[in-house]
Amino acid sequence: MNAAPIHRPFMDKRALVKQAMLASIKTRSRAGVDLINPICIFDLCDKLGLTVRFTDINMEGMYDRSSNPRIHLSSLRPLVRRVFTCGHELGHHEFGHGSTIDEMQEEAAALQTESPDEFLVNAFSAFTLMPTVGLRGAFAKRQQAMATTDDITMFAVASNFGVGYTTLVSHLAYGIEQITRERARQLLKSTPKSIKKQLLGDAPADPLVLVDQFWTARAIDVEVNTLLLLPTGAKIDGKVLKAQNALPTGDLYKAVRPGIGRVELTPGNFHFVRVASEKYVGLARYRHMEDDDV
Ligand SMILES: [Zn+2]
Repeated sequence: MNAAPIHRPFMDKRALVKQAMLASIKTRSRAGVDLINPICIFDLCDKLGLTVRFTDINMEGMYDRSSNPRIHLSSLRPLVRRVFTCGHELGHHEFGHGSTIDEMQEEAAALQTESPDEFLVNAFSAFTLMPTVGLRGAFAKRQQAMATTDDITMFAVASNFGVGYTTLVSHLAYGIEQITRERARQLLKSTPKSIKKQLLGDAPADPLVLVDQFWTARAIDVEVNTLLLLPTGAKIDGKVLKAQNALPTGDLYKAVRPGIGRVELTPGNFHFVRVASEKYVGLARYRHMEDDDV
């Protein structure tokens, strides 16, 4: 018996990238957010009437298409993965796809999918989280050209947009083609672990968010036990962060309790810090509630 040949669906990646980019603009506009600044994707879904819930199921995410549409995200995955997956599931919603479950997979593998629908919603997530004009502005403010920027600046920009380092580098190389593939390969020799080592002198297991003086727009969203490297001399309001070390690269803090605090990164430059419990399970909108409120 002859096996039937397997036909992969034809995928015109450039056309899909363009479709995803246009859809991301529509979506951000419908939610009333600008087309530049970093956003909190969970807040964006809330504005669009989509309920986001964190579960402890071992998967990446799930989109439940119903009269009360919902996105389920696994709190077992790192926060930057949940953010990207939330944009991905929102893409399934925006493109009218049916209910789907996305299995757990490595970041790089997820971005190299062979399914046109999955490729489309990954690109949608990337554009929704990282609008091109916003990225250009973010590198310009840091006086870096995208094409030649170093891994630390890349990590600072990824932190501000709430995405993983690999996700940002991949989007710049393959999504908007602002850095060469060769440059991407060089940058991907650095990892969050090696970047932590460069910045902190060692590489603790806890995730690190690099908050430089150019942090823009959205609140600094972290979980308990996340490390934050703030500009030297930053001032802290509230009890959600605890000072760790003064390093040559900045002041190191750790998120120690859920709730909302405030930091003054440089004089007059204030931002909220929103801390969720580690591996929080429940509705996304309640994730920063303090223990006393529960
Ligand atoms: Zn999917």
